Amino acid sequence: MAPKHHPSPLSGGDRKELEKARAMTTILATQSAEARAKGEALIRRADKLSCESWNEKMWADGGPIDPSPTIDQAVDGGYPWLEIECSRCKTRREVDLAALPHPPTTFVHDLAGRLRCSRCAKANRRPAATLLQLVRRARQAAPET
Ligand SMILES: [Zn+2]
Repeated sequence: MAPKHHPSPLSGGDRKELEKARAMTTILATQSAEARAKGEALIRRADKLSCESWNEKMWADGGPIDPSPTIDQAVDGGYPWLEIECSRCKTRREVDLAALPHPPTTFVHDLAGRLRCSRCAKANRRPAATLLQLVRRARQAAPET
């Protein structure tokens, strides 16, 4: 067995420095966690405001759809649903952004050409979706039957 390492005894001053360093480890780690939590809260707020800004633009003028938040910004900002309308048959539906196969860095406006109306797909048509707004939660039932 290898001989155990015995550090030379510390002087009183060294021991004090060591205690200070150990105390600082905890203090700095706590400050880091606090700063990170604040930063994450600010990012969530920025994402939420970005969604609200886009919604106001869509409501007021119907576009332009670009620029828009990304999928993960919308989800993190508390707007994980996108309400769309088929440009052909005018059927409205809400899309669960978190469930889409697209990467989370995809911009919401890039979904306009990628989301298809299932009703029109049955008729072999592939019209683009009109983006209406980001919503916090899906409605229980579709307004039209
Ligand atoms: Zn349609």
